[in-house]
Amino acid sequence: MDKKDVIQEGIKEILRSLKNINFEDQTVLVTGGAGFLGSWLCDVLVEQNARVICLDNLASGLEKNISHLLGLENFKFIKHDISKPIHFDEKIDVVMHLASRASPLEFDKFPIQIIKANTLGTWISLGIAKKHGAKFLFTSTSEVYGDAQIIPTPETYNGNVNPIGIRSCYDESKRAGEATCMSYARQHGLDVRIARIFNTYGPRMRADGVYGRVIPRFIHQALNNKPITIFGDGKQTRSFCYVTDQIEGLLRLAWFDSAKGEVVNTGNPEETTILELAKIVKKIANSNSPLEFHPLPPDDPRRRCPDISKARKLLNWESKVELREGLKNTIEWFKLMKVS
Ligand code: UDP
Repeated sequence: MDKKDVIQEGIKEILRSLKNINFEDQTVLVTGGAGFLGSWLCDVLVEQNARVICLDNLASGLEKNISHLLGLENFKFIKHDISKPIHFDEKIDVVMHLASRASPLEFDKFPIQIIKANTLGTWISLGIAKKHGAKFLFTSTSEVYGDAQIIPTPETYNGNVNPIGIRSCYDESKRAGEATCMSYARQHGLDVRIARIFNTYGPRMRADGVYGRVIPRFIHQALNNKPITIFGDGKQTRSFCYVTDQIEGLLRLAWFDSAKGEVVNTGNPEETTILELAKIVKKIANSNSPLEFHPLPPDDPRRRCPDISKARKLLNWESKVELREGLKNTIEWFKLMKVS
C-alpha cells in the first residue's frame, strides 16, 4: 500500500459509511481546510461533487494536504486568515469552521492567534453563514470540559476549566466560540451545529515541532528509535478517534435536520493511558525506543473520555476503528512519508 492509498482507502470508507448523506451541488466553505481534519473534509466533499471553498492561512495547515485538489473544477483554495473579514459573491450553503491551531505545544507560542481564530474567526464565519442563510458547523473540542470530573463526559457537563491557565487560550476561546454560535442561533435563527471533538489522529497529522500531538510524536520517535517522551507518569488517559470515524461524524452532524442547534460529542469512547499508548505504538512500529519520562505540563487533564450516547441517537453514528487498527494505518503512512 502506498501513502496515498491509506488516505484513499479512508476516503472510500467514509463515503461508504455515509450512504445517502451527500453534499452534491452544495457550496461548502471549509475554514482550516488545509489542516489535518479540514483537508480530509475537503477530500470527501470534493468526491461527493460538492463545490468546496477551502480557506486557510497555512499557519499550521499545509498546502501539500490539498495540493492534489488544486485545479479541480469543484475545488478552490483561498489563502486567508479567517480572523479578518472576507466576502463571497457565490451562494454558500454550508460553513464548516475548523480553523485553529490545536496542539498544546502551540498554546505556549501562539495564544493570541488561537484566541482570534476561535472568537473573531467564529464571528466572521457566522457572519458569512448569516448573509448566505447557510448552515453552520463549529468544531469545538473536548477541551471545553477542562479537567472533567464526570467520565465518560456527557454534553450536559459544563466543564472545569482554568480561565487563566496555559490552555485557556484554546479552551476558553472554544467556549466563547460555542457561546457565539448559540447567540446567532437565538438572535438570528441561524442553523448552527457544534461538534465537541475528542482527540483524533491519523494520516496528515503533523509530528514536527510545536505542531505534534501525542500520537504523531510517539510514532515519529518510535520509527526513528528515539526515546518516547511520556509526560508525567503516563497514567493520564485520552480516548483516541481515528480520522475516518471523526470525519463521518462531522458530516452526519452537518447533515441531519434533527441536529440543528445541537452540541454533540464526537470521539471514540475507548479510554487508554498514555503509557499504554506508548507501548502499543512501540510494538506496532517494531521499535527499540526507550520510554523517557518528562514533567507533566500544567493543567493537563487527568482523564478524557466522551459519552457518545447523544451522537448514537441523533446521528446514528459511533466510532468503528479500534486503536490498534487506526495506529497501524497511521504508522504505515508515516513510514511511507519518510521514504517518499
Ligand atoms: N503527551 C506525552 N508525550 C508527548 C506529548 C504528549 O506524554 O510527547 C501527553 C500529554 O501530556 C497529554 C496526552 O499525551 O496528557 C495528549 O497530549 P496531546 O498533545 O495529544 O493533546 P491533549 O489531549 O492534551 O490536548
